[in-house]
Amino acid sequence: MWLNYGTVYHTSQRIGVKEISVLSDRHGHLQPVTEGLLHCSGQERVVVNALTFDVEDWYQPSNLDPMIGYHRWDDCESRLAPSVDRILSILREHHVKATFFVLGWNAERFPEVVHKIQQDGHEIGTHGYRHALVYDQTPSEFARDMERAIAVLERLTGQAPAGHRAASFSITERSWWALGVLQELGIRYDSSIFPIRHHRYGMPHSERLPHTIAVNGGYIHEFPISTVRVGRKNVPFSGGGYFRLLPYVCIAAGIRWLNRRQQPAIVYLHPWEFDPHQPRLPMSRLRAWRCYGGLHHTEKKLRALLRRFRFAPAYDVLMHYLGQSSSQSRSVLAGAGGLIESEVNPHDV
Ligand SMILES: [Zn+2]
Repeated sequence: MWLNYGTVYHTSQRIGVKEISVLSDRHGHLQPVTEGLLHCSGQERVVVNALTFDVEDWYQPSNLDPMIGYHRWDDCESRLAPSVDRILSILREHHVKATFFVLGWNAERFPEVVHKIQQDGHEIGTHGYRHALVYDQTPSEFARDMERAIAVLERLTGQAPAGHRAASFSITERSWWALGVLQELGIRYDSSIFPIRHHRYGMPHSERLPHTIAVNGGYIHEFPISTVRVGRKNVPFSGGGYFRLLPYVCIAAGIRWLNRRQQPAIVYLHPWEFDPHQPRLPMSRLRAWRCYGGLHHTEKKLRALLRRFRFAPAYDVLMHYLGQSSSQSRSVLAGAGGLIESEVNPHDV
């Protein structure tokens, strides 16, 4: 049931002149949700970008697994709630709604964090239950982890999450089957594919822009992590370590590069990236620089971006983009772990 990969295509639903943003419910019906996703400045269309947070604590990133694994999480002092509060107050100040992909383990232990996010009107998606890398699991292990994660959020919020982001972007050619599992579990969109080469993740040849993937006789939407084209390479800039270590001007230039082409960027950050005083684990200087570099500047950079660009939750931005797009980019995945052939997307110039 997971090997039915099909055509990847951009949807071309016409959504009228006034309804400029749509949201699919779990049955695929489109509903207008956010007015004003498309802003006009003179003759120029202003693109709205997606702002997302992977809700994990300082001891949960995958690169700390060798030092603090899942089984030792309960021994660590949580710093999650104050960091999420900080993010929520920044978003309130700037009148911005975002998407929070919440780890099920955290939702279960800190339900008040989920309630606060929901009360502020943000989208809540799932980041899995225990932050296990997808390609380290069998399809049935992944399905069990996701079922548990979805059930926790459904119980706390009263609704199933529409969106998913895998731990460390671990949907790759090795774990492409995961999209079928997600679709079967009612997930409407995924934002886990990073079209770059990296030792832990990445599908460097996959589609760079939001698209729809036919699977199991249905479909799932994909919002890949943002890259810009430099020569023949996809270059990341919009979240995590890239966001912390790159100067603000580079991040802003990346978003501008996409927006000039009428393409939305997707920014991803974590609560611990707003906590410069978190405990530091012993590690090499290079590794420490990657894990903890730039923590003092995350908030300042995010505030600058919120002043400069427009942002909305990922699902709204995704559906708006797909609804507007009339392109028919086609990609075919030749079976599990196979190669992807893509025609050039007219947006991808
Ligand atoms: Zn994560």
